[in-house]
Amino acid sequence: MIFHSTKTPSLKASLEEAVFNSLPSDNGLYVPEYIPKVSAQFLNNIEEKTFNEIAAEVAWTLLGDEITRAEIEEIIQRSFDFEAPVKQLGSNDFVLELFHGPSMAFKDFGARFMAALMSYFLQKSQKEIKILVATSGDTGGAVALGFYKVPGITVTILYPKGKVSEIQERQLTTLDHNVSAIEVDGNFDDCQRLVKEAFLDEDLQARFHLASANSINIARLIPQSFYYFSAYAQVKHLQKPVVFSVPSGNFGNLSAGLLAYRMGLPVEQFVASTNLNNTVPSYLESGDYDPIPSIETISNAMDVGNPSNFVRLKTFMQDDWNLITDKISGFYFDDQQTREAMRKVYDAYEYVMCPHTAVAYQGLQEYRRKNQSDFTGVFLSTAHPAKFLELVEDTLRFRIEIPERLEKLLSVEKTSLKMKPSFQDFKELLISIL
Ligand SMILES: *Cc1c(COP(=O)(O)O)cnc(C)c1O
Repeated sequence: MIFHSTKTPSLKASLEEAVFNSLPSDNGLYVPEYIPKVSAQFLNNIEEKTFNEIAAEVAWTLLGDEITRAEIEEIIQRSFDFEAPVKQLGSNDFVLELFHGPSMAFKDFGARFMAALMSYFLQKSQKEIKILVATSGDTGGAVALGFYKVPGITVTILYPKGKVSEIQERQLTTLDHNVSAIEVDGNFDDCQRLVKEAFLDEDLQARFHLASANSINIARLIPQSFYYFSAYAQVKHLQKPVVFSVPSGNFGNLSAGLLAYRMGLPVEQFVASTNLNNTVPSYLESGDYDPIPSIETISNAMDVGNPSNFVRLKTFMQDDWNLITDKISGFYFDDQQTREAMRKVYDAYEYVMCPHTAVAYQGLQEYRRKNQSDFTGVFLSTAHPAKFLELVEDTLRFRIEIPERLEKLLSVEKTSLKMKPSFQDFKELLISIL
């Protein structure tokens, strides 16, 4: 597959180039040059296939001209040793649980696949790369665990002091081997600025092969399309149109759903569910895209006022306003509504949701109120509730169970390097540790 920039279609890249460059030089985003369709036969008996079989077929349809089927299957095998089950809540509502990976959030799908893909290309070229990533929470854990012990790759993660949750911090700081964490005495923007400056620094560029693992890397987007196919396979027997509600921040998740749709997945409708950072729902209402400074909410992984994947969303829908508004509905909710949804779903089904998942649940209900048609609704659960322990317990007023994987972290010692938000310090530190 050839990829090109959303800004300059003549700016092209192979998969390998797109993965290691992360961004095209014109600051657009990489998208596939054309979107191939999966075969009708594949969709006909998709319900008989495992997650990894589905993932391999979708990946091969997209990337089969650059990587062989056997190599794709190996990359998939290495990436996904966890499930994405769909569970029923109520007569027509289903939750797609995307939190069974190592960091217990859906970003594991992207991070694991990117790590396996990079490692595959590096083996061929015998190169070594150094990944730098700034995190405000979930990305860091997924990247740290996704790249942990992957040969040829060293990972350095910057996170803002006192601004990530206890469990999130431990996911970054309790690994060793090829992963190190730097606690920056500043905010997330400082961390991001330091990483950007490092990429622009010629001296560092000459010393190391630096690479990024940020969310707009195409290698993180592609694997997110797999679970839409897999969810469809799990509800196909109901023989009703399928509606997906996606809790959205940077809109990578929803864009990946659109990619699946364009590859031939039968989807009736996508619901873009957001918190008060409602740039996209407002756009779907008015046609005007007016980014806002981000607003802090309890679903903080979605506090994004100017979603970086918005241009992909438009590109996948061929920049066609009718197509966009035909396929995507948008709703937004405040923190109180989010907490109400968490309580309501617990009372009705004894099911505990994280706040992001609750926003997706609300979006699905709102869509049902406005559309009386009979359909199967699937809302995406993007994180395990225990990752947001205090907030969830404060809302539901009881102690929730902490999975062993997270519980264990609480007894391991944290190790991080500490630093002021100064580029000179950061550069010296990198040279001494890399
Ligand atoms: C990152 C994240 C989101 C938002 O996903 P986007 O792809 O940025 O829209 C939602 N929920 C959780 C828990 C996340 O970590």
